[in-house]
Amino acid sequence: MIEFKDVSLVYPNGTQGLKNINLKVNQGEFVVVVGLSGAGKSTLIRSMNRLVTPTDGELLIEGNNILNYNHRNLRKLRTRVGMIFQNYNLVRRSTVMRNVISGRLGHTGTVKSILNLFLKEEVSLAYQSLDRVNIAEKLYQRADQLSGGQQQRVAIARVLTQQPKIVLADEPVASLDPPTSHQVMKYLRKINKEDNITTIVNLHFIDMAMEYADRIVGMRSGEIVFDGPVSEVTEQT
Ligand code: ADP
Ligand code: ADP
Repeated sequence: MIEFKDVSLVYPNGTQGLKNINLKVNQGEFVVVVGLSGAGKSTLIRSMNRLVTPTDGELLIEGNNILNYNHRNLRKLRTRVGMIFQNYNLVRRSTVMRNVISGRLGHTGTVKSILNLFLKEEVSLAYQSLDRVNIAEKLYQRADQLSGGQQQRVAIARVLTQQPKIVLADEPVASLDPPTSHQVMKYLRKINKEDNITTIVNLHFIDMAMEYADRIVGMRSGEIVFDGPVSEVTEQT
């Protein structure tokens, strides 16, 4: 499903973000990437939907090397690969519904969406997605009137409307308190299981990683220094 072959990334200022990454992730896996700040977790995640572009190697998603992709291919890729951010990235002044439907329409915006006109089926899909993360009652609220945990659930619902094959979550709980963090992790795990969505999550805390991951990838200085099931981490620590 996802395969890194000797992938390196050097930022324009010379910083090495990734160094000879070799990594294979199978369909439906839930992988948590851990490491200190600056280890390269975010660079690793962002390379998988080409928010950053590795400078060497091959990165295969469903068999295609995405490092060769043009704009058109990238747009398609990004509909299949959903992204969750630390700061939710919702349009703050828009309604929850509008935010969620934008996952389906893409960010270009049609005349219809600009006028706030939605098809019945779009509303129904938005509602269903929100219901899966238990927040459907907020459909017509403005995004910035929700708590952090609620906003992250809306972001998950937005990703669900894309019906993605892969979900990438870059520090999705770093701005949330512990109980809310667990709640968000549970929803990510739930959609992973129910829809067989391959999921890669960056986390700061190893205990949280151990609780939710099938597999843990540890990074340091742009390199993978650990890759194994949670049981192996337990034995070592
Ligand atoms: P993490 O997510 O583990 O905190 P990052 O992937 O953000 O790590 O960063 C890896 C390294 O790349 C760090 O040294 C960071 O300072 C550097 N880096 C990240 N983004 C950029 C950028 N846009 N330009 C230059 N260096 C960057
Ligand atoms: P969570 O269940 O995500 O922890 P909170 O306990 O933080 O939610 O929030 C409780 C309620 O307060 C929520 O229903 C939310 O809509 C509301 N709320 C939180 N922050 C704000 C805000 N900045 N403006 C308006 N309402 C808010």
